[in-house]
Amino acid sequence: MKKLKRNSMRFAAALLVALASFGAGPTAALAAAPQHHDQVPGFYRLRVGDLEVTALYDGFGVFDQHWLNGTKATMDSVVKALHEDPRMLDEAVAGFLVNTGKQLILVDAGAGTWWGGGTLGRLAASLRSAGYTPEEVDIVLLTHLHSDHVGGLTTQDGKRVFPNADVYVAKAESDFWLSPEIAAKAPKDAQPFFQSAQAIAPPYIKAGKWHTFSGSAQIVDGMHLVPLPGHTPGHTGYEFSSKGQKILFLGDIVHAVRVQLRHPEVTVAFDIDQTEAAATRKQLLPKLAREDVWIAGPHMSFPCLGRLRKEGSGYSWAPVVFTDQWEQEAARR
Ligand SMILES: [Zn+2]
Repeated sequence: MKKLKRNSMRFAAALLVALASFGAGPTAALAAAPQHHDQVPGFYRLRVGDLEVTALYDGFGVFDQHWLNGTKATMDSVVKALHEDPRMLDEAVAGFLVNTGKQLILVDAGAGTWWGGGTLGRLAASLRSAGYTPEEVDIVLLTHLHSDHVGGLTTQDGKRVFPNADVYVAKAESDFWLSPEIAAKAPKDAQPFFQSAQAIAPPYIKAGKWHTFSGSAQIVDGMHLVPLPGHTPGHTGYEFSSKGQKILFLGDIVHAVRVQLRHPEVTVAFDIDQTEAAATRKQLLPKLAREDVWIAGPHMSFPCLGRLRKEGSGYSWAPVVFTDQWEQEAARR
């Protein structure tokens, strides 16, 4: 015991001498720590009744102000706000996993390698980080067939990323994007969307895993379809309910969260029917705010989960706050 004390005193004295000889005070760093530029694994879990919902990060993009259509006064205010905050139109791309306890369901699959650029395509890695494998996914529900939502389904050489999954999409959506006749008449800007859809779907069609629905088809217990037309012809939301709680996976109802919640009438260049897209949003947003439904919006800031609040003539976004609901609820018991 005595020896130990003497040794530690000797060590402390040596340390003081060493610090003094460096000419450094006790708060100075001893070595420069290298910076780590990687983020945490891209997933976030939310409990909705008995459902485990996991947001899966696919990547990020910058939404161009010229893709927004609004009145001159609204667009002038957007330009002014962008001047003050140039990051205002940054957006995430995400997909979502729902584990019902019986089935593993993916809602939208991210961009994979079909959008170009290096900032997207991380969904499968995020899914693995969250403790699942692509082989475990039973069902994929698609809000629409734009490549930032379906690119993650298929590799460039035509392999199914989710080999055991049955894929569901609205018939109107599938018929539109997979039609060579409609593609032939479509404007040049829209061609990449037709090309990607027509490359991504066939491996699932060949395997008998591509299913279309119309009306109020029952695909999963506790989930109902919410047609949200305008952005694309068969654009569809999926609303899950469990123990009195609801979550709506609403696809591309909102691209630019800081603009379109305050001005729901603002549409985007990718809305195929601009009037219908604005009407759908105008009808949906008050209902979501009133009913306090959880919202999964793939282009909101990650983790892309939150609720809507009425604010003035528009709405504000109340994102989830980082927490562990399972641990919290266990502690309360
Ligand atoms: Zn999108």
